[in-house]
Amino acid sequence: MEKVVIIGTGCAGLTAAVYTARASLSPLVLTGTLPGGLLTTTSTVENFPGFPEGVDGFELMQRMQQQAEKFGARVKFATVEAVDLSKAPFTLTVDGEAVATQTLIIATGASHRHLGLDSEARLEKKGVTYCATCDGALPVFRNQPLVVVGGGDSACEEALYLTRFASAVYLVHRRDQLRASKIMAERTLANPKIKPVWDSVVTDILDVTQEKVTAVRLKNVKTNAESELACAGVFIAVGHVPNTQLFQGVLDLDETGYVVPKRGTATNVPGVFVAGDCSDRVYRQAVTAAGMGCAAAIDAERYLAHLHQ
Ligand SMILES: Cc1cc2nc3c(=O)[nH]c(=O)nc-3n(C[C@H](O)[C@H](O)[C@H](O)COP(=O)(O)OP(=O)(O)OC[C@H]3O[C@@H](n4cnc5c(N)ncnc54)[C@H](O)[C@@H]3O)c2cc1C
Repeated sequence: MEKVVIIGTGCAGLTAAVYTARASLSPLVLTGTLPGGLLTTTSTVENFPGFPEGVDGFELMQRMQQQAEKFGARVKFATVEAVDLSKAPFTLTVDGEAVATQTLIIATGASHRHLGLDSEARLEKKGVTYCATCDGALPVFRNQPLVVVGGGDSACEEALYLTRFASAVYLVHRRDQLRASKIMAERTLANPKIKPVWDSVVTDILDVTQEKVTAVRLKNVKTNAESELACAGVFIAVGHVPNTQLFQGVLDLDETGYVVPKRGTATNVPGVFVAGDCSDRVYRQAVTAAGMGCAAAIDAERYLAHLHQ
């Protein structure tokens, strides 16, 4: 019987692992298919506190894992396939085997929604990105025309943020008005650096042969007219999908699938806690995920102490 199982080894899961391990709870930490989480897919992380020169994303996550293991966390390369949270102890199916646990910390993250273009995948990290806060300040994007794809609040936020660096920001949206909240849409359209490209979809990103972004190919969905727009970067903000399919019908999720905590990191099932991007549709940063991982660990620790009083 485990005291604590943590699902996920991104910033949230590994921070929860450091804290629960230091509390002598010997957590079992399950990596899923992406050990180290999303940050391992990027190069330099410049906004994680404590690294004035920046830090390689993969290295940062390796160091978090080492720190957790140093205090007794057991990190296992395994994926949770099913959960039974109907009664405590909870039962997880992990690569076909049953694992029983008194508490569970869910830190399964969220995935970016993709456009689904072949060139998008091939130019990822070579000018195609999904996070302006993470990548917008990189030298390659400075004083260059940039494209943001999307029309919701996130796309507007990305576009506004990028106006600090770009020479112009083209906001490509498939409709003729933004989906974003009124105030955000007004602020976005009032910015002289932001140029909306209405009724349009990106059909291709150039130039795969040069291994960098030089332009996007656009199609007007009303007229079918095709055009090319020169740019140095493409920021895709067409939404996120939280990795919470396992918990549908079991935990309280919002309409887009994010886990909705009841209080702090506690979910509607006592003993089950949540942290990081799978319950955060607003910030989605490494340091906020780590902060939530810390909170979930402390909540789990207190829950266990209460249980054994
Ligand atoms: C390209 C890129 C660059 C970024 N750059 C920055 C940056 O510079 N600064 C910054 O602050 N943020 C950055 N971010 C955002 C940051 O990566 C995320 O906010 C952070 O990783 C969220 O951490 P998390 O622990 O919630 O989830 P994730 O990092 O997404 O980790 C989720 C974990 O859950 C595991 N998992 C999922 N399902 C299962 C399952 N069924 N069983 C077992 N395990 C499972 C996965 O394998 C993974 O280990 C970037 C994101 C991307 C994509």
